[in-house]
Amino acid sequence: MFDSLKKELSRRALLHKAGFGFMALGVTGAVGHIIKPTRTLAQAGPAPSNEPSLPPEKKLGWAVVGLGKFATQQIMPSFGECKRSKLVALVSGDRPKAEKYAQQYGINPKNVYNYQNYDSIRDNPEVDVIYIILPNGMYAEYSIRGAQAGKHIMCEKPMANTVEECQAMIDAAKKANRKLMIAYRTQYEPYNLTAIQLAQSGKLGKLKSITSDHERILNPKDPVDIWRMQKKLAGGGSLYDIGIYSLQATRYITGEEPVAINAMMYSTPGDPRFREVEENVNFMLHFPSGVLANCTSSYGYSSTKRIQVFGSDAVLELDPATDYYQHRLFINRDNQTEEQKIEEKNQFALEMDHLSECIMQNKQPKTPGEEGLQDVRLMNLIYEAARTDKTIKV
Ligand code: NAD
Repeated sequence: MFDSLKKELSRRALLHKAGFGFMALGVTGAVGHIIKPTRTLAQAGPAPSNEPSLPPEKKLGWAVVGLGKFATQQIMPSFGECKRSKLVALVSGDRPKAEKYAQQYGINPKNVYNYQNYDSIRDNPEVDVIYIILPNGMYAEYSIRGAQAGKHIMCEKPMANTVEECQAMIDAAKKANRKLMIAYRTQYEPYNLTAIQLAQSGKLGKLKSITSDHERILNPKDPVDIWRMQKKLAGGGSLYDIGIYSLQATRYITGEEPVAINAMMYSTPGDPRFREVEENVNFMLHFPSGVLANCTSSYGYSSTKRIQVFGSDAVLELDPATDYYQHRLFINRDNQTEEQKIEEKNQFALEMDHLSECIMQNKQPKTPGEEGLQDVRLMNLIYEAARTDKTIKV
C-alpha cells in the first residue's frame, strides 16, 4: 500500500547514509504524503529488561536438538546475547557436524547426543531446557521424550502436524511438571510488540481490518526445503510453514480468537513440489470485535513478510514484519506517513530468556503449548474451509 512511499524512504535512507541527511526532513513524498522525520517510540508491551546478564553458573543450560539451518545460523549464535540461558548440549544424527559445533561453542563432547541416546539426557544435570528444531512432523515425539526425561521444552513452530499430537505434548509436559513453550519469536520482537500496543491501545482508532501476507519460493534443490515437500515431515505446505505468521499476527494484533473462517487453496497442477503439500492458501477471518482479516500464504512467489492494520483513525504497516532483523513500521494518519524507528533486539535471545525466566520464577510462558495448539487447530479449519468451500464457525 505504501510501496512508492517506502521506496522513497529507502532512497532517502541511502542518501542519509551517504551524507545527505538533510533531504529526509519534511518534504513532500513521492505519492503526495508529507514525510516527517523519524522518531523513536517508547518501547511497548513486555519489553526486554535492561537488567544485567546472570553469571554463567546461574544461567539455565540448554540443549539444541537438530543442527539444521535455522538452529545453526540463528539460534545457536543468539545464546551469546542471552542473559539467562547458555548452550551446553547438542543432539544430532551427524556426529562430526555436532563435534564441530561443540568445539566452536565450547560444549563438552560428553554433552553431544544422537537421536538414539537422546533419552539419556535425563541423567545430565547441566541440561535444564531442550530446544527442538527439527522437521515439524518430529516435534511431538522429541518434545514428549524430552519432557519424560525431566527437561523443560522449547519447540519450534508449527508445534506439530495434528491437534492430537499438540495435545499429547501438552499432556506430557503437564505430567512431568515441566514448561512447554512454542518459539513464536515475533511475540517477543520489539516492532511487533509496538504494533500490538498501538493497535490495542486505540491509537489507530477502532480496528477494522488486518491483512497479512507471507510468501517465499520453495526451492526443491535446497536441502532445507526437501522435507518441506513431504506431508509426513512438514504437516502441511506454505500455511504450516509461513502462513502461520499471518495467522499469528491476526491473533496477537487483535488479542482475540476468530469466530469464522473462509479460505481458498490452489497449487499449480503438475508442479512436483506440490504433490503432497499446498502452494497457495488465502484465508479470511472474522473476529468477535468485528475485525476482518485477509491473509495470504504462498510457496510460489517471492519473499513477503508483511502485516497491515487498518483502524478508523490510522493505518499501521509492518514491512518486513516477521524477518529476523531490520523491521520497518509505518503509520499513515490523515494522509501523512511517518516511519517509527524502534531499537532492534535479538528476538531469539529474548524468547529463550523468557522461557528461562519462566522456569526460574515458575511462571507460565507467554506462548505456551496451548498457543501452538490453537494455531494448528485453526490451520486445519482453514484447510477444511478451503476444501468444503464453506464458512467454518469456530
Ligand atoms: P533444516 O532442514 O535446516 O533443519 C532440520 C534439521 O533436522 C536438520 O539438521 C536435519 O538433519 C534434521 N533432521 C533430523 N531428522 C530428519 C529427517 N528425518 N528428515 C529431515 N531432516 C531431519 O530446516 P530449518 O529451516 O532449520 O527448519 C527447522 C525447523 O525450524 C522447522 O520446524 C521450521 O518451521 C523451524 N523454523 C523456524 C523459524 C523461525 O523463524 N521461528 C525459521 C526457520 C525454521
